Amino acid sequence: MTTTATDNLDILPVTVLKGVGPRMAGRLEHLGIRTVQDVLFHLPLRYQDRTRVVPMGALRPGDQAVVQGEVDLAEVRFGRRRSLLVRVSDGTGSLTLRFFHFNAAQQAGFVRGAGIRCYGEVRAGPTTAEMIHPEYRLIEAGAEVAVEEHLTPVYPATEGVHQLTLRSITEQALHYLDGAGDEAGGRLPDWLPARLVAPFRMTTLPAALRYVHRPPPQASVELLVEGRHPAQQRLAFEELLAHHLSLRRVRLRAQHTLAPVIAAGDGLVGDFVASLPFALTGAQQRVLGEIRDDLAHPHPMARLVQGDVGSGKTVVAACAALCAVQAGYQVALMAPTELLAEQHYRGFRDWLEPLGIAVAWHGGKSRGKERSSALQAIRDGVAAVAVGTHALFQEEVEFDRLGLVIIDEQHRFGVHQRLALRDKGRNGEQRPHQLVMTATPIPRTLAMTVYADLDTSVIDELPPGRLPVNTVVISQERRAEVMQRVRVACTAGQQAYWVCTLIEESEALQCQAAEKTAEFLAESLPDVRIALVHGRLKPAAKEAVMAAFKAATVDLLVATTVIEVGVDVPNATLMIIENPERLGLAQLHQLRGRVGRGRDQSNCVLLYQPPLSETARRRLAVLRDSNDGFEIARRDMELRGPGEVLGTRQTGEMKFHIADLLRDESLLAAVEQVALQLLECCPDHVSPLIRRWLGDAVQYGEV
Ligand code: ADP
Ligand code: MG
Repeated sequence: MTTTATDNLDILPVTVLKGVGPRMAGRLEHLGIRTVQDVLFHLPLRYQDRTRVVPMGALRPGDQAVVQGEVDLAEVRFGRRRSLLVRVSDGTGSLTLRFFHFNAAQQAGFVRGAGIRCYGEVRAGPTTAEMIHPEYRLIEAGAEVAVEEHLTPVYPATEGVHQLTLRSITEQALHYLDGAGDEAGGRLPDWLPARLVAPFRMTTLPAALRYVHRPPPQASVELLVEGRHPAQQRLAFEELLAHHLSLRRVRLRAQHTLAPVIAAGDGLVGDFVASLPFALTGAQQRVLGEIRDDLAHPHPMARLVQGDVGSGKTVVAACAALCAVQAGYQVALMAPTELLAEQHYRGFRDWLEPLGIAVAWHGGKSRGKERSSALQAIRDGVAAVAVGTHALFQEEVEFDRLGLVIIDEQHRFGVHQRLALRDKGRNGEQRPHQLVMTATPIPRTLAMTVYADLDTSVIDELPPGRLPVNTVVISQERRAEVMQRVRVACTAGQQAYWVCTLIEESEALQCQAAEKTAEFLAESLPDVRIALVHGRLKPAAKEAVMAAFKAATVDLLVATTVIEVGVDVPNATLMIIENPERLGLAQLHQLRGRVGRGRDQSNCVLLYQPPLSETARRRLAVLRDSNDGFEIARRDMELRGPGEVLGTRQTGEMKFHIADLLRDESLLAAVEQVALQLLECCPDHVSPLIRRWLGDAVQYGEV
């Protein structure tokens, strides 16, 4: 490709920059850098302040600073590790430079009285403050050496691409941006029309880029580190917009895709609701209405139902399933864990078989005849409803007329997985409807970004008569007391969970710990009927234990966190969680949601291991003081970051260069507004904007 001076920077290859040959270009690709535009959008991770010399007397451990002084003494120490110690001072104080790797020439340079300038991180040493392997330069004693004019950016780097290289190419790219390079380079397109962003008074794009790459000396490092400078906010806005548009495009595409029209009358749903021992709450009815509206349209529904733990999402899902079945379509219900999927299987069988509807089970561990007959029933359409884990969406599973896919606890699946599932079950021109459910409620603004591909409904009401779970925080030192409490409750006919948590990598170790605890509890509480469930039990054994607990022939269920999602035994009213300080708040709230599902007062004991850190104490207090999933999710996001809570971090999704969902939450409403306007007025700006921020590889829905 030949390029000309007037080419836009988004197609100008990075090789136009000095020092970037084919080899370097290859390495830069690892950083996602191919064009001059990519260089400009390779943003600093943090900054160093080399714009001023700091007096040694003012240094504090942890500071990163430039110092200048004279060498007082240099000596090699033979301790546990041979090291070269260089004592320097500047009249205000002194500092020791410590080198573990050094050569003779280097050592010889440190003569008494030589001038030296260093940059490094200050640590407290045995006698004076120290810098370990600082960058340094010998200078004429007392010479005035120019300091940096700008805060020094520190870029994400990779093998063979060092900070100096990155500084050099960003410097050159900024010249191109100004059109002031030797080659008087091209133009950086601004995809945001001024009139759309004018109301938000944002920095211009070139000014924002110039500022974040080369902040002026008076810039506040603190503001920059926090990412709250207006220049950074301008870029964060654009990045959030790109993510939002990428997801929204998935939704728009659905409007050009066909789906079965499911406009069943009230028949099956009515019969089902009438068979329940309770009436649907107002919120459940409203959300069901929204779902039925979607199903009646000839385009695939993509709806997220958010509802706090215990709000009754499963019944709503069952009603949606019945609509599809009545219209002659099959339904697939998928849950993230075998245990939850099995629970749903049993629940749906109990609900639907009396209505003459066959329910099939297909999990990852299904084998032999059971497996083949389930697959057969799904293929022939005999099974109107199939329940299982993600195994349901493997190649070998063929549906006859799949009309609706329901995904429970979707935050356990990643964004990409969710989108990949959209295309499953495609039948000629038609795609099934999709209903996803989550118990990790997030604020509306956040949902608009993270779930921009989905319409959302909220079940914002708990079934009547629910009492908030009464939660206490108790030290392991009082374990015996807690055990007595379990004994008293269980012998009085209540049921309880004892949850063993471990953050061990290995599931085997977790299960072992739970086994030990179960043994110990069984010995200590002989009059309590105890059973154990964990992830390593055979499916049949797990099912037997859960059935026994549900039938109340087991009083105390010792479990690992496998019971976190979905398990529903309303008679259980007491939960002990060991070492709760090791879990995230949202996860604890989910776990605790296993109790408080009936009309009796439930209790939860958070049995922590002392000593508790101050943060841990505060986190457990949040749980003790609140039963509100929204509030708890918000606090959890503040403490651990949204990626961790929303399950997007593990899968590397929604990785932002500069934006931060929580910090920049105030931008999100404007992001949505501008996204809609941009789609309206300049749809051709959307793709290049997405490509700028997300690259070619990771656009949503392109997987
Ligand atoms: P979640 O929203 O956490 O998935 P579930 O669907 O498991 O909640 O429902 C929790 C419990 O509440 C179940 O025992 C369910 O049968 C019951 N339930 C659901 N809806 C109602 C209602 N409208 N009135 C009373 N109980 C209900
Ligand atoms: Mg549920």
